[in-house]
Amino acid sequence: MSQLQSLRGMVDLLPEALHRWQAVEAMAREHFQRSGFGEIRTPLLETTDLFCRGIGEGTDVVGKEMYSFQDRGDRSCTLRPEGTASVVRAAIQHGLLSQGAQKLWYAGPMFRYERPQAGRQRQFHQIGVEWLGADTARSDVEVIALAWDLLASLGVGGLELELNSLGTAEDRQAYRNALVAWLEQRSDALDPDSQARLSTNPLRILDSKNKTTQALLEDAPTLADALCDASRERFEGVQRGLTALGIPFQLNPLLVRGLDYYSHTAFEITSDQLGAQATVCGGGRYDGLIGQLGGAPTPAIGWALGMERLMLVLEAAAQADPQGVAAQLTARVFPDVYVVNRGGDAEPAALALARHLRAAGLWVELDASGSAFGKQFKRADRSGARWAVVLGDEEAKRGEVRLKPLKQKAEEFTVALAPVAAIVERLLSP
Ligand code: ATP
Ligand code: MG
Repeated sequence: MSQLQSLRGMVDLLPEALHRWQAVEAMAREHFQRSGFGEIRTPLLETTDLFCRGIGEGTDVVGKEMYSFQDRGDRSCTLRPEGTASVVRAAIQHGLLSQGAQKLWYAGPMFRYERPQAGRQRQFHQIGVEWLGADTARSDVEVIALAWDLLASLGVGGLELELNSLGTAEDRQAYRNALVAWLEQRSDALDPDSQARLSTNPLRILDSKNKTTQALLEDAPTLADALCDASRERFEGVQRGLTALGIPFQLNPLLVRGLDYYSHTAFEITSDQLGAQATVCGGGRYDGLIGQLGGAPTPAIGWALGMERLMLVLEAAAQADPQGVAAQLTARVFPDVYVVNRGGDAEPAALALARHLRAAGLWVELDASGSAFGKQFKRADRSGARWAVVLGDEEAKRGEVRLKPLKQKAEEFTVALAPVAAIVERLLSP
């Protein structure tokens, strides 16, 4: 029988990697809490309509990448390809917006049918924030700083913030017309994908990875030229705010987000460690989305970062600086204690002792094999534990236990099995 495999682009996360993930997630959770953002968890499965309306039919995500199917009640369902539409749906559904601005964050798996490669999977994970009801340039600065500071606190270097403004819907309409008129005269020089986008989603052409198209675009009209005065002033306010916080950025007139509901500020944080899939975090303002999904028109801004890409950057940072934050955060961790035990009296006593030590807060690995002491000691060494707690039938009969240091220079002790507090004290002493 052929061996069962996970689906292409769907990746298992094993304990060793997850330990690093959890460290990052814990940092993120704390960072959001300190910044006044509350967690929201929405279903992985939503109506297909939510994403068609919330992301836009002309986008790659909706057009090519969604996992959609009919459920048993013949409803069209889709595994969420991103978090924003669901968060907005939930905020509208639960009337959160009538309670004032909402600062929300989420983390979890997203699904897109893409070509898997390094940093690109079909099930991947995002951490994201959405600030619903925020409209000032200041809120843009604060949200960008939230992403920047999180990445900095994780010890990630080599990051670059790229910034653009998409203006208002009217600015974009004017620009779209100008761009289409300009490109139509040169459509022979465009790659086939971009030619198709001329009629469906022309702004996405700016995002093209095709070299000839990129060269052609160097002379194309830019969004910056199409902004009205108010949009331009707003954008300058964002830039001043970032400069005041000492957050460096680069303007990138070709930066358009793939999703249609964005307006004004759009940004990406890229890493020089990532090769082709360089974008770790992307986000921007989406003032049109909440109204589009049936809520009272409400301005909003958010971002999402890709966990898989973040982990790749963190691993590179850890290698580059073995003493740095990223290295510490992703370092392997080891149990405090490995319990070596064998014999009819020793084994139940060891099980009871392990429970007591765990209740006292220690990380305890209990050898449950019953194999020879030599073999158990080998496993104890491999576990990386600081101490072996050794219980044979002789120790158990005497009501004692041996504490043997495995890594550190310390003496071996024999101590009474009770009280456990005395054992804990010995094990925790340096
Ligand atoms: P890309 O241009 O790389 O496809 P995107 O514009 O589709 O990115 P967003 O929708 O803005 O990406 O998602 C935010 C972040 O989520 C990205 O910057 C990236 O880090 C991550 N991400 C997006 N798609 C994937 C994927 N298929 N696999 C892994 N991470 C992803
Ligand atoms: Mg994409």
